[in-house]
Amino acid sequence: MTQLNYQDVFQANVTYATRVYEIIDRVRKYAPDADFDLIKRAYVFAAQAHGPQKRKSGELFIIHPLAVAGLLAEMQLDVETVITGLLHDTVEDTDVSLADIEHHFGASVANLVDGVTKLSHAGIESKQTKEAENLRKIILAISKDIRVLFVKLADRLHNMSTLGSLPLHRAKLKADECLTIYAPLANRLGLYWIKQALQDLSFFTHDRETFCTLKRLRDEAIAALKYTPTEMADIMQSILEKRGLKAHVTWRAKHVFSLHQKIQAKNLTFDQVHDVLAFRIVVVGRAACYQALGLIHELYQNKIGHIKDYIGTPKSNGYQSLHTSVYDHDGCLLEVQIRSEEMNHRAENGLAAHWLYKESPNKTNDQSMDWLRNLADLSREPSSPKEFLESVQLDLFIQEVFVFSRDGELFSLPRNATALDFAYAVHTDIGHQCMGVRINRKNAPLSQRLRNGDRIEIITNPEQGPSYSWLKLVKTPRARHRIRQFFKKQNQQDSIALGHRMILNISHAPLPDNISTALGCSSMDQLKIKLGRGEISLDQLYSAVCKHLHPLNVSGLKQRMLYPASCCHPVPGDTIVGKIVTNRGFELHYYRCKQVLAQSSESWQGFEWEGETAELYTTGIELTTQNKRGMLATLSNAMSKQDADIEDLRMQQLSGGITHLLFFVDVKGRDHLADIIRVLRNIDGVNTVKRDNHGDVQTRKKMKPIHHVIESVMEMTKKTN
Ligand code: MN
Repeated sequence: MTQLNYQDVFQANVTYATRVYEIIDRVRKYAPDADFDLIKRAYVFAAQAHGPQKRKSGELFIIHPLAVAGLLAEMQLDVETVITGLLHDTVEDTDVSLADIEHHFGASVANLVDGVTKLSHAGIESKQTKEAENLRKIILAISKDIRVLFVKLADRLHNMSTLGSLPLHRAKLKADECLTIYAPLANRLGLYWIKQALQDLSFFTHDRETFCTLKRLRDEAIAALKYTPTEMADIMQSILEKRGLKAHVTWRAKHVFSLHQKIQAKNLTFDQVHDVLAFRIVVVGRAACYQALGLIHELYQNKIGHIKDYIGTPKSNGYQSLHTSVYDHDGCLLEVQIRSEEMNHRAENGLAAHWLYKESPNKTNDQSMDWLRNLADLSREPSSPKEFLESVQLDLFIQEVFVFSRDGELFSLPRNATALDFAYAVHTDIGHQCMGVRINRKNAPLSQRLRNGDRIEIITNPEQGPSYSWLKLVKTPRARHRIRQFFKKQNQQDSIALGHRMILNISHAPLPDNISTALGCSSMDQLKIKLGRGEISLDQLYSAVCKHLHPLNVSGLKQRMLYPASCCHPVPGDTIVGKIVTNRGFELHYYRCKQVLAQSSESWQGFEWEGETAELYTTGIELTTQNKRGMLATLSNAMSKQDADIEDLRMQQLSGGITHLLFFVDVKGRDHLADIIRVLRNIDGVNTVKRDNHGDVQTRKKMKPIHHVIESVMEMTKKTN
């Protein structure tokens, strides 16, 4: 039962050419002025290049290019395409270079051969992904010239019908590729007979037994009919001709894969499938199509609701025909397609048909041309069908560009995408850390626009982050969004950190939530962000804080926002008040400081020290002493015994052998300071000791700073001696 071989499965209405003269004969029928000599030279060139190479089947390799070229001639394609069929495997499989081909057969053929070669590579690469739709698109995109696809489909068709010599697992891979990629492509291009042949050959490869069973059932069903299909076709033809319609009626059995699909989709048994036969009536002219439809409906009863008028409303790929389903006298369902010769040629050969047919004088009727034109977005009117097809750059059909990662993974991006877009498409972090790009193993700028088939390697550096200028380099919304988000997040984090520091400067204790509410913020984080961004000023924060916290705790002054005033030098333990100094924070004053007394009490905010800390505060101690040898040494010695470092010293010589001294010392607080003052008072020769905490800046200004003091001390020492 499974004795069928691939030749039996191949049901198309063509035979494979085995000699170059068969190809030339086919071409001569539609292009009598073609350069037949060039076809012969291409054949000789290919035969020499492949030499004694054999196919897996043991036959000479050259039978494959001959068959492919024969199919292309059957599709009535131009000589360049037919020649490409002969040469299509030379660059891939022999020593021949593209330059050789260009030298002998011109740039156009060389480009076509190059396209077919590249397409084979794309097939291999793309095995990594399962996205068939993308694969179909990448093939369209890489093909560029639509003729490349015709050659590839013919190539694939012949390879599929000679699959028998491949190991089954490899044959099944090929079959998968056909079902997911090439058959839908053929369909899209309107090459239905190639689509059907590819599907049947693939189905046969995958499930030989089911295929053979279905084929047997189908053939038995046809054999059981009262009239043979040929008799039925004759009946139809004679009826039509009696009514004066020139018609040509042919029939075919429905191809096995379509029966299989129907059974699967509708969960039927074979007995429930009635339409195993399809008839095609080709008449002259559009009007005759409708006449023929009427006559067929007189002859057979039509199945209600099964008339489709693809002449009035062509399919999106330009297909035109009338379809009807009728019951023959046995009750067998027959599908009948009625079309004009021109429609038929186009239906058979899809886009390839444009090669032969001149554009009709009434261009607006040529729907499929419009379809192509729209897809290809052609701006100019081509002068000939040939020029038209050449100008159909297939990659214009596609709004995407297809590229590969270093590991061969397929990515699709918008057409204008750059290398940086690709990095973001791989992963957001790869985008952020992108510092370099290699495209097809060469260094390239991040802004490099991607081309189909590019292989891209992104060089990353974890230290790297995006820059604002990247927003100009990327074209995809995704990448732009990611970069913006990065900056937004970073800015936000910076703002929060800054705002947090500002709040810490006011209070170590967390601020109560009503402060953020008072400032119109929904949360403490939002308050921090607004502080950090400067949308809420420190002054605003302070006054809000003052209203809600009274008095404020001052827990150490390290924070820049709180600082002791340099006029009165308050230390922990002192009664203090503070006022806002713009851009600095709170300046803290001793409450009896001249400055405090000079300004109205409203401008002052109460503060409280929060116990003693390890921090030291500079404060001033004012002394009057007698000019006495060693007095400065005695004083500084006494202070250092009390752990008080002298920060600064000023002095002034008064009359009567009296020296006025001002020490700036670091103390822990009020108690520490009191101890120091007590000790100083007990030193012999010290007249008065008091704190310099009243903000009497005038007195201070009269005193000499420390470098003068050294000299004065020297003088004092001399005098006392
Ligand atoms: Mn091939």
